[in-house]
Amino acid sequence: MATPAHSGLGDSLSYWSSEPLQPGALVRVPLGVREVLGIVWQVHEQPPDGLSADSLKPVRESFAALPPLQANWRALIAFAARYYQRGLGEVALAALPPQLRELDGAALLRRLKKLDAAALGAGVVAGAGAGADAQERAGAQDPGLAPAAVVPAPSPEQAAVLAALAQSTQPVLLFGATGSGKTEVYLRAAQALLQQDPQAQALVLVPEINLTPQLEARFCERFGAHGVVALHSGLSPAQRLRHWLAAHRGQARIVLGTRMAIFASLPRLRLIVVDEEHDPSYKSQDGARYSARDLAVYRARLESGTARCQVILGSATPALESWHAAEQGRYQRLQMPGRIAGAALPRLRLLDLNQQPKQCLIAPPLLAQLAARAARGEQSLVLLNRRGYAPVLACHACGWKSDCPHCSAHAVFHKLDRSLRCHHCGHATPVPRACPACGNLDIAPVGRGTEQVEEHLGALLAEARRPDGSPVRVARLDADSTRAKGSLHSRLAAMHEGEVDVLVGTQMVAKGHDFRRITLVAGLNVDSGLFSSDYRAPERLFALLLQAAGRAGRDAAFVAAQQAEVELWVQTWYPQHPLFAALARHDYPAFAAQQLRERASAQMPPFSFQALLRAEARTQATAQAWLQAAADAARSASLPGLAQSTLYPPLPLTVQRVAGVERAQMLVESPSRPALQAFLAAWQPLLHALRRQPPGRGLLRWAIDVDPVSL
Ligand code: ADP
Ligand code: ZN
Ligand code: ZN
Repeated sequence: MATPAHSGLGDSLSYWSSEPLQPGALVRVPLGVREVLGIVWQVHEQPPDGLSADSLKPVRESFAALPPLQANWRALIAFAARYYQRGLGEVALAALPPQLRELDGAALLRRLKKLDAAALGAGVVAGAGAGADAQERAGAQDPGLAPAAVVPAPSPEQAAVLAALAQSTQPVLLFGATGSGKTEVYLRAAQALLQQDPQAQALVLVPEINLTPQLEARFCERFGAHGVVALHSGLSPAQRLRHWLAAHRGQARIVLGTRMAIFASLPRLRLIVVDEEHDPSYKSQDGARYSARDLAVYRARLESGTARCQVILGSATPALESWHAAEQGRYQRLQMPGRIAGAALPRLRLLDLNQQPKQCLIAPPLLAQLAARAARGEQSLVLLNRRGYAPVLACHACGWKSDCPHCSAHAVFHKLDRSLRCHHCGHATPVPRACPACGNLDIAPVGRGTEQVEEHLGALLAEARRPDGSPVRVARLDADSTRAKGSLHSRLAAMHEGEVDVLVGTQMVAKGHDFRRITLVAGLNVDSGLFSSDYRAPERLFALLLQAAGRAGRDAAFVAAQQAEVELWVQTWYPQHPLFAALARHDYPAFAAQQLRERASAQMPPFSFQALLRAEARTQATAQAWLQAAADAARSASLPGLAQSTLYPPLPLTVQRVAGVERAQMLVESPSRPALQAFLAAWQPLLHALRRQPPGRGLLRWAIDVDPVSL
């Protein structure tokens, strides 16, 4: 009798099986008129209470060719579902590769045979069955990569960290400067693990795999392409299934992936690395809104029940939550303050906009620097803080602005195809010839996007020359310019190859790249991060600027040969702001200490715990009324945990309307995580019920976001 069980498991269903099944087995079962993939969650010898054997539908088939999903994996899923307030089945099935759902047992068997044959054909005995992928990857090796098979001896700092890692029994926060060689530590940690246990598996998470082709190449180079597989949303369904199977069957040694990979089935997981652990993209923003970083710590602890499983969180600018955990001794902090080969960290130069000509996009001294660097064959990076920086079309006569008709946001002016595009809903219209409100012909963009900065810089640097007398080349890297497949890769390659002198971009350029010839990084429009309603804005800005600065001066030999001044230039109206004082000293600990003091006195995370109840409806009033009803229901039922929690009034989101849908939210806060969890768990059934009552009927969607990272 196999019964994916009943009570306490939310959306699980019971079935009957004539053959014995193990928990974790994959099965196909009837559901209504369809047949669907299921996971055996619990097995009962007798039908559960209230059910008779003949009322149960039979399991159609079980995937005997696949090992069952392990107890630790199921425990991880169960925890994630409970903690993030989602259905167990939803979380479990979302963790499986979509193509698995389409296969029946026979088709799966054929697929497995093909994979094993391919692995043998590639001359690999315990290979990952990813031969075709290895070739794809080899073709896509990053040109910026050092020649193959050069394994550097660890620096003294790396050696000390590796020795400490071998002893550590706690989650490790690897606090290493940009360019201190954190990646080399991950590689060596994985190597040490595989020397001890050749069957062990390591999971390496990165914020955005498309931005870090170098990392995959470095792992493949060190461990051979066959033992390394990637798991992220950029894969084709067939690749994703193949890689998932390689991990699940224990063939892949290293799984490299984005946040979704935290749910990979890894029967012999012994090491989890979360690179750039501060990155907000580790938090999912739809479905189960999980934090892959937090789950990594939880998963390592779960696995440690079986055998030692180490978790390493790495960053030059750790999340304040992680830093706080290290201060409290819950995480072990290991440091690498110096850069490889003694390369210098960039010096901060603040450009006071109060002293510069009005309305200048790039102040003259900075422009002169860009030209001078290009003239010496050095590269520069110009970073635009994206927030509030997209160009909007405006009429100076009547004040009309290019608003999106469906969203409470401005549509952005795109010069290339002369369109106005909403970045929230995608709505696009041609640019009007005259102001739609007053007929004025003189409508112009205000604010500037990367496209304009690129163009503007091109014009300003028209007279500038490279060492060989040729014109300076300006290029752009942002979500718009890299939408076409492969264009991101080719732009990064051009930068690595030195075919670009000045690269203009958004957040995207600041992350992880190991550029070798950059000596100057410039930050534009950073002031919005100093004075934002979002209490995390300073933390984000500090991380962004320090990470961006980290792209400069990475190659000590190049810097020495050039006798270059490695610098971070920041244009600001507020040069006296304390954030810049800490930035100038590259003093993350001082910045973190100051921020944590503020958070403590305001009782903000990590000194309190938060959840958001979000609601979407056709009108703002409906969304807010439902949230208010939800609060009232919680109060009148005096739910557990409520006494220790605060329910704040409903509010519209910052971008209140998207694609014609109004969005509102309500913040729940508690000094106690268990109290907040108890409250949310008890609240959920009430929310489901409320959905069917008057204010709820007009509701389109609701969701709970636990530990939200953006308010
Ligand atoms: P991080 O991830 O800390 O920013 P990386 O791991 O990318 O730093 O290392 C920065 C650069 O230094 C890379 O080009 C890397 O190949 C090189 N590197 C790392 N460790 C060593 C070492 N022990 N000896 C020589 N070069 C190293
Ligand atoms: Zn007008
Ligand atoms: Zn819109």
